[in-house]
Amino acid sequence: MAEMGDLVCVVTGGSRGIGRAVVARLGAAGCRMVINCRSTVDEARELAAQVDRHGGEAVVVPGSIADPDTAAAIAAAAEQRFGRVDVLVNNAGITDDATLRRMTDAQFTEVVQTNLVGTHRVTKAVIDGMCDRGFGRVITISSFVGQLGNYGQSNYAATKAGLIGWTKTLALEVARHGVTVNCVCPGFIDTDMLRGVPEHVLERLVARIPLGRFGDADEVARGVEYLIRDGGYITGSCLNINGGLYM
Ligand code: NDP
Repeated sequence: MAEMGDLVCVVTGGSRGIGRAVVARLGAAGCRMVINCRSTVDEARELAAQVDRHGGEAVVVPGSIADPDTAAAIAAAAEQRFGRVDVLVNNAGITDDATLRRMTDAQFTEVVQTNLVGTHRVTKAVIDGMCDRGFGRVITISSFVGQLGNYGQSNYAATKAGLIGWTKTLALEVARHGVTVNCVCPGFIDTDMLRGVPEHVLERLVARIPLGRFGDADEVARGVEYLIRDGGYITGSCLNINGGLYM
């Protein structure tokens, strides 16, 4: 079992939604936190102050993970403040929906650049250190959409399915160095990502969920904490937290 208070954790997209819940949970468990976000820097700073108030320590690193310089900035800030990275939670992700017949090239490539290329770059910036020290946890927030598909989300589905194959491959490559690599695949979670979806569509979505409700961001954060704390013999897997939406 990993001692949470000893761990330095990076969370991309940590200012809102699922990432924010992960930061709050890990920070409360005593982890030292590196919080990345793209533009809601005030929210991230307020969250960092909350972690500090609970006896933890947190630093904020603004920057889009789609920007090639952000991965290096995250790794450098973690190194400078805490000396290393033990846990990377690849959470930052975007949607830009349209049916494939209407989707522009820019819509497709922007989602790929953020969700897939950005995640790859941030991981690459910290994985050598984990392997050298013989311990690490890489946890990537994929989605049920990468397993099941979802109307109007071919770009997003391609990235989330891609992250599952990427996770299994990286898990194979770094297992002998004591680093585990897993995905969490949430179902519909009540965050800003669902805001703007019309009420009648939300009703149709809920009707598809066997447990009959949307998930809560902290329910995903608890899965992340489990993989960190007790997941020493779990690698290359997908933890579904989806109310039965995909089995
Ligand atoms: P939100 O839109 O609520 O929050 C997204 C977070 O990611 C924000 O902190 C945002 O920061 C940050 N972010 C977005 N783009 C970038 C970027 N390019 N670089 C750095 N940070 C970025 O999303 P959720 O919390 O709902 O989703 C989090 C993850 O969970 C995503 O990967 C999503 O695909 C996945 N997921 C979500 C589900 C859901 O139903 N909500 C279901 C399944 C998976 P800022 O505010 O600064 O832009």
